[in-house]
Amino acid sequence: MQSVSQATKEKMLDTSIDMCDFLRQAVTPFHAVQVIKSRLRQAGFLPIPKQSDDVTLQRGGKYLFTRNGSSLAALVIGKKYAPSNGANIIAAHTDSPTLMLKPQSGFVERGMEVCGVQCYGGGLWHTWFDRDLSLAGRVVLQRKATGGDAVRDLGLHVHLVNIDKPIACIPNLAIHLQTADEREKLTINKETHLAPITSVSRREGKALPSAAQLHDDISMEILSQLGKSDDFEIVDHELCFYDANGPIIGGMRKEFIRSARLDNLASCYAAVEGLLETVSILEESERVHIVALYDHEEIGSRSLCGAEGNLLGDIIDRVVRQDCSTPAEISSRREAFLANSFCVSADCAHAVHPNYADKHESRHAPSINGGLVLKRNASMKYATQAISSALMRKIAQIAGVRIQDFVGRNDKPCGSTIGPIISCQTGIETVDMGIPLLAMHSIRETCGVADVNDSVKFFAEFLRSFHALKNALVGGDE
Ligand SMILES: [Zn+2]
Repeated sequence: MQSVSQATKEKMLDTSIDMCDFLRQAVTPFHAVQVIKSRLRQAGFLPIPKQSDDVTLQRGGKYLFTRNGSSLAALVIGKKYAPSNGANIIAAHTDSPTLMLKPQSGFVERGMEVCGVQCYGGGLWHTWFDRDLSLAGRVVLQRKATGGDAVRDLGLHVHLVNIDKPIACIPNLAIHLQTADEREKLTINKETHLAPITSVSRREGKALPSAAQLHDDISMEILSQLGKSDDFEIVDHELCFYDANGPIIGGMRKEFIRSARLDNLASCYAAVEGLLETVSILEESERVHIVALYDHEEIGSRSLCGAEGNLLGDIIDRVVRQDCSTPAEISSRREAFLANSFCVSADCAHAVHPNYADKHESRHAPSINGGLVLKRNASMKYATQAISSALMRKIAQIAGVRIQDFVGRNDKPCGSTIGPIISCQTGIETVDMGIPLLAMHSIRETCGVADVNDSVKFFAEFLRSFHALKNALVGGDE
């Protein structure tokens, strides 16, 4: 970062500070969608109610759709959009590995109040030990039935909650209580070793019947936060633990961001900021512009709000349908729309770790603050191919952003993304890229300040100029 000007450094830091702010609030996919929704609404995006067909999508209009409160799509239809022009799409995921409370989560063990949890996704679970943990998510409430009163309020009320205090911890086992073999292997039993402790029980021998939905203190805290202490009870919940220590900008030259959930909220942030930076230009364009943020990537994407659900397909159908009068017309326009669309699947990449440098192939080892990473895999774990990759190199050149290449080693396993799912389901040409990251799936990951800034610049440029660039593609054999 030595060669960049003071003004550029300040701009980079401002972007990173804003992203840290976003990360601090976006403690679950529900909260991430809530924060993004509010940023988009401030910029004039109109929420489209679920399944409402009476809202006509106008050229020059900005819309937002949500699913399950944990996935979101933002849509800008250019004023000069012609049917079948297609869309510039950026897709990312809102979820990260976490510990999720079981339905009957509260139990007492050796005088301690402990929470039963399910592992969500493939976390580096050993990083969750000795952390200050807080709890957030979604609860469903109902009004309590009052003693013998037959009149009941049958309504269910859904609320987001964030306790926002370090209420729990998973302490390590003391070294003296581990055998030499256990110390060496660092083996974790995900069922028995990962249960967070919230307090010393005050039940004095009176154990819970078998288990409680939630510990009383947690229920009371949630209800009191929602201002519903006396009248309501929690019927059900989706609550997750998260690191109560928020994101920080660190390093001797403030070049790193250390935070939970960088994979993949850093991409969600950059996609949305890229969209917001260019929105006034996009409103005038010939294309449709979409940012689609999905939940459930970490567990395979197979859900109504995952990438295998049809959020993107439904939005595209809706846009295409508006200019058509017969099913045959819809079908042919849709085909043309998909053929002319392009999707950037934005997800974090593995940066080379100086202490484990041999885990990368040395000519494809992206470094932190070295630029955005194009991901390739011969088995198509990533959707990138030569043309999509070449187009992105061009966009990066226009945006003044550096590109790095990543290919996994043949003797190591490779991750995957929503890129192949989207491209397979829709037939839309897709590329996989993202910022380089250290400690992917740790409770505290590390990325670079310059890379975050570059990704916002890149996504803005992609949304703005992809169409012109694609039109300038010189023909070949195809
Ligand atoms: Zn990811």
